[in-house]
Amino acid sequence: TTSYKVLIIGAGPIGIACALECKKNNWDYVVLEKGALTNSLFNYPKNMTFFSTSEKLEIDDIPFISNNPKPNRDEALEYYRRVATSNTLNIHLYEEVKSIKKRGEYFEVSSSKATYQVDKVVIASGFYDIPQLLKVPGESLEKVTHYYNEAHPYAMQDVVVVGASNSSVDAALEIWRKGGKVTMVIRGSEIGERVKYWVRPDIINRIKEGSITAYYHSEVVNITAKDVTIRTPKGEISFSNDFVVALTGYRPNFKFLTDAGINLSDDKAQLPEYDPETMETNVLGLYLAGVICGGTETHKWFIENSRIHAQLIADHIKKK
Ligand code: FAD
Repeated sequence: TTSYKVLIIGAGPIGIACALECKKNNWDYVVLEKGALTNSLFNYPKNMTFFSTSEKLEIDDIPFISNNPKPNRDEALEYYRRVATSNTLNIHLYEEVKSIKKRGEYFEVSSSKATYQVDKVVIASGFYDIPQLLKVPGESLEKVTHYYNEAHPYAMQDVVVVGASNSSVDAALEIWRKGGKVTMVIRGSEIGERVKYWVRPDIINRIKEGSITAYYHSEVVNITAKDVTIRTPKGEISFSNDFVVALTGYRPNFKFLTDAGINLSDDKAQLPEYDPETMETNVLGLYLAGVICGGTETHKWFIENSRIHAQLIADHIKKK
């Protein structure tokens, strides 16, 4: 068993911000990350552009220089990579945390590779690992994906894009521009209000001119190898289909939180219980940082407004 003062779960932007705080305070710390460095960002669409300007994605005031006001995925990967390497942060990649157990005064944290004994634990595990499923027959077919990477595989194919938020809209536009035939299936009555302000008119006009077909107030009900069936206000319709790109959101790993003893609110939001001034949960010494704090309301927290969590936690640990 190895001992540390602080163990941070997740090397996303906020986990890295927490590591920087530990380093500044000369604390013995380790970050355990189950995938690559900033694994969520790594899995974002290849051509995605952030809605935030680069200075709002900065952590610990380390300048983030990007060519355009809104950086893209590659620039963000470059930035966080340089922050981690030039500060020689103690991050173990490809090591997944399996459990957190409170043992009196300390925590026992078990990973895929080792067991650790630590004073404080910070969960900064984000929400990008578990997609919100459609829960319809055929969802597990190989032609269905919940992560969109790039458009090329969809050229000259019939593609259904489910959802109307940023991810869905970006994917629909890009696939159409690369020669895919796109049908959007949208549960609500319009393109999402939070869609990037410079992208929203683009999608609305592509739908209006008929380049992209959109079914509103509609849901996918069945997927087969050759076609897809959707429920629309005018009844069910089936049409031929090669791929389904279902970008209906993601959710935090709630079981991981409750197994660690964290209470969740019993409403739809399933908000984990923590003190917003210190970020400490109802389990003393166990903290939350980053977008994991929002429960199912994954749009509430982002890098911009959650990067301060690192400092709140450090201040609280310092006082103890
Ligand atoms: P994450 O970046 O998700 O990091 C969590 C890390 O924990 C991951 O690397 C994961 O692999 C790891 N992990 C999970 N479970 C375990 C485990 N058991 N053991 C070990 N490691 C684990 N925010 C903005 O501010 N501006 C934007 O423009 C913006 N654009 C976005 C675009 C998209 C497509 C998406 C999906 C999100 C966007 N966000 C944006 C939100 C952004 O994802 C988050 O703000 C950011 O990634 C959150 O950082 P985080 O460190 O809290 O979590």
